[in-house]
Amino acid sequence: MTSFVTHLESALDGTHLPARTVQTVHEGRPLWVRYDLDAVGRAVARDDLRGRSSGLWRYRELLPVDDPGCVVSLGETTTPLVDCPRLARALGVRRLLVKDESRLPTGSFKARGMAMAVSMAKQFGIERLAIPTAGNAGGALAAYAAKAGMSCTVLMPEDTPEVNRYEAGLFGARVFLVDGLINDCGALVREGAERVGWFDVSTLKEPYRIEGKKTMGLELAEQLDWELPDAIFYPTGGGTGLIGMWKAFAELSALGWLASDARPRMFSCQADGCAPIATAFDEGERFARAPDAPRTEASGLRVPVAVGDFMILDAVRESGGRAMAGAESAIRPRMRQAASLEGLSLCPESAVCLEVLADAVAQGHVGAAETVVVFNTGAAQKYVEVMRTELPRLDRAAPDWDALGAGA
Ligand SMILES: *Cc1c(COP(=O)(O)O)cnc(C)c1O
Repeated sequence: MTSFVTHLESALDGTHLPARTVQTVHEGRPLWVRYDLDAVGRAVARDDLRGRSSGLWRYRELLPVDDPGCVVSLGETTTPLVDCPRLARALGVRRLLVKDESRLPTGSFKARGMAMAVSMAKQFGIERLAIPTAGNAGGALAAYAAKAGMSCTVLMPEDTPEVNRYEAGLFGARVFLVDGLINDCGALVREGAERVGWFDVSTLKEPYRIEGKKTMGLELAEQLDWELPDAIFYPTGGGTGLIGMWKAFAELSALGWLASDARPRMFSCQADGCAPIATAFDEGERFARAPDAPRTEASGLRVPVAVGDFMILDAVRESGGRAMAGAESAIRPRMRQAASLEGLSLCPESAVCLEVLADAVAQGHVGAAETVVVFNTGAAQKYVEVMRTELPRLDRAAPDWDALGAGA
């Protein structure tokens, strides 16, 4: 079987490029993967999905892989949509659902993009992958590269979270710490692509990670019986997640699979220590400016320059949503709130989404009667430095039972 891909298209100027050959960017900007959606609609009906196994490959007609033998999978699951009534009450919305992407291989939604990028690399016979990472992308790529038998090099800033620093090496990748930001790592990977033949799997520098991330939107629609929520809160670094989901909704709409034409308002959430997209949104700009001294402990959001900035901003504006910055100081309390009220292992990036949601409710951008979906893009356990607290000692010889009883 071959896929329904017809061509690739420059997101900036609409130029068509051939698919089925290695493509990266056009004029330095990302490419969309385009499909013959009429043919998809003839090949598969939405109800045909029912009998298929769970996980992102159930949407194969909307994915770019031509040769099923090239699929590289680590057993991706359909991630649960968890109803969070106590958190909803605390934040002032009627219904809050958390789509928990932390259940995917390597504990983050990066698995979706890498499953697709590595499968396509395999189809093209590419053998040496490299990536700059601010956190979870390196581990996810390393795991899929290991499964595919490819070599993988990961470059990361020195302040990358501890778990991310070691997981990629565990999967057999060559890992290097760089004294700079993710964009500096990205420049080195670009140079390595020229000099030593690495294939650059950076966010939006190859067309297929978006297609993997798109499956979040496909899955969400199917889980909600093709009725999309009023608003989606999504943490934004490079933006592939938000861009991919918006693309998914457009494709589902073109296929006529959605219950109604109403699409969610997309809220792009950033931490106020590094919020180029939120700033550009406020200023009415389509392209973002790098902030001066970007810092946030939500490492996945520590992305000062996003090549897909205009794609994020276009999607947010088209949807009637907003790009907003949440307070850095709220990250740890929001993680604790979600964990203690709902038993959820929420990453710092998604804690930012809860803070932005609280702000959006307070400012009237979200109504009290609305259904909101927040994406939990990763597991709290990957951020030991953010979780760390001083633990009291219990004296084994003479436990203070009065204090212990009072605390429980
Ligand atoms: C990478 C990452 C993000 C940002 O995702 P983009 O799609 O690149 O905007 C958010 N959260 C986590 C946990 C991440 O690893």
